Formats: sequence, structure tokens, C-alpha cells
Amino acid sequence: MRIILLGEPGAGKGTYSSELVKKFCIPQISTGDMLRASVKAGTPLGRQAQEFMKKGELVPDSVVIELIRERIKEGDAAKGFILDGFPRTLPQAQSLDKMLLSMDISLSAVIKIEVGKAILLKRLTGRRVCKGCGATYNVDTMKPKKEGVCDKCGKELVQRPDDMPQTIENRLAVYQKDTAPLIEFYEKKGLLRPVQCEGEYKDVLGRLFAALEKVAKV
Ligand code: AMP
Repeated sequence: MRIILLGEPGAGKGTYSSELVKKFCIPQISTGDMLRASVKAGTPLGRQAQEFMKKGELVPDSVVIELIRERIKEGDAAKGFILDGFPRTLPQAQSLDKMLLSMDISLSAVIKIEVGKAILLKRLTGRRVCKGCGATYNVDTMKPKKEGVCDKCGKELVQRPDDMPQTIENRLAVYQKDTAPLIEFYEKKGLLRPVQCEGEYKDVLGRLFAALEKVAKV
């Protein structure tokens, strides 16, 4: 099973990816997480990426394409993978097609996570992440047991620099301009599966799994 999760910033790609990881036992591949790890490690790539990330801009295609090219060849991705946050532009999607073709594999489905703007804004402004392990919380919907402290590792919870209000608007605009065209791109290939992701969490998961059930049986 090779899945792409497509959705605006704050749609819940990371959260739903971790559910799919458990259900299908395949890895989540998040370019955002990979880039943040490079920033944290202070590598040259991280220093380059940070300049774009803090403004809510996309990191150049060539950088993320190379990250993915290497990552999908790793052993744990042989059975399949969940792409979270990649591709985000048409050139990225076209490069991914070429990569998969050269490996003689193909995509199973592209899940389009559908969430209204009010909820996106609430999720982004309320998101808190652990400085230590990267676990994600929300001040309204997914509170830690002790305010500001990670349940899993006890480290401090902070706001992502790109979750600040001024950067959020830019990220949403960048999505409309650069990433939304992928909807038609994958629709034409017959891979797009829209999933309405508002409402009770367990209902959303039900719809998500149902959308993939048909794919899993193919
Ligand atoms: P995310 O965690 O997926 O919201 O990504 C955080 C930031 O990392 C984005 O706002 C971009 O600056 C950068 N980024 C992540 N994935 C990509 C990608 N596929 N293409 C370009 N930039 C990306």
C-alpha cells in the first residue's frame, strides 16, 4: 500500500498518518519531520531549509525530491509507505511518478483530507509540539495531562515557529497556489479519494479506513 495524504496545513496529515502506520504497518514519510530534524541537527540542508520554513514558504523542490528519493529506497518502505506532506508541487509529483516507475511500483491512493478553514486555523494555532520527542498536542482538543509538558517524555511543549498567526496565512496561501493543483493531477489518474475529516475522531477514522479498504483489496 503506497498512500499520499494531501491536505492543507493543519488538516491532520500527521495525526491520520500515525493511525495508518498502526493499521497497515507501513512507515510514515514526512518531509516536514525530515526537514525539522535537519534544522535541529544544524546540517547545511537544515540551515538552508530553515530560511523557507520559518516564513511558511516551500523548501526548493530539488531538496525535498532528493530526500524522498533516498528515503523510499530504504528497507522499511519496501512493503509500502504513507507520504505525509509530499508531494506539494506539480514538479514534485512528476518526479515521484518517475521514481516509482523506475522502481516498478505505483501509488495505491491519494487521500484528500477535507477540513474547513475555521477548523484548520483552530488546529494550527492550538498545536503544541514536544521539544524532545516531537509528539503533537492541541490546547483545545488533545491536551497533555500536565499543561506544557509532554506525556511521553516529560519535555517542554512549544509552538512551532511556523504555527504563528502571520506565518499560517502564508502557508494556507502557498497551499492554494502550489499544492491544490495536485488535486486535479491525481483525480485524472483515478487515484483521488476525498475524505471528510470534520466531526468525531472515531467517525473520521472510520471514513478514512473505508476509503482505503477498497484499495487494500485491489
Ligand atoms: P509540514 O510539517 O508538512 O507542515 O511542513 C513544514 C514546512 O516544511 C513547510 O511549511 C515547508 O516549508 C517545508 N516542507 C515540508 N514538506 C515540503 C515539501 N514537500 N516541499 C517543500 N517544502 C516542504
